[in-house]
Amino acid sequence: MENCLFCKIIAGDIPSTRVYEDEMTYAFRDIAPMAPTHVLVVPKTHIGGMDEVDSADDATLAACLRAVRKVAEAEGLLASGFRTISNCGSDACQSVRHLHFHVLGGKQMSDRMD
Ligand code: AMP
Repeated sequence: MENCLFCKIIAGDIPSTRVYEDEMTYAFRDIAPMAPTHVLVVPKTHIGGMDEVDSADDATLAACLRAVRKVAEAEGLLASGFRTISNCGSDACQSVRHLHFHVLGGKQMSDRMD
């Protein structure tokens, strides 16, 4: 989608540090990491956010979750654990309107979600 930051990253028009990629998903390091590992998993097709998944392709959505696990494995987080977050809309402070899953790990995180 035109003027979507993550679509431009997927297309290679804006540089990113790739961690994982398959036919349906792309994963890259967050530019402002909140943990030793902070990776964003995005579908290659444009979906605005979790509020739009009702009209999204099931295979794409499943691929995103599998990509989260692949990233956790590649980053060595399966044993220690990791957190997966998808912010949606203004109350959640979603800043990029392209569905993405933050994968955070490599440190002990708070039990609070805010
Ligand atoms: P959210 O606030 O949940 O929409 O998450 C958007 C995330 O995208 C933030 O954590 C940003 O740090 C990250 N971000 C913004 N621009 C870039 C970029 N060019 N490369 C990598 N991550 C980015």
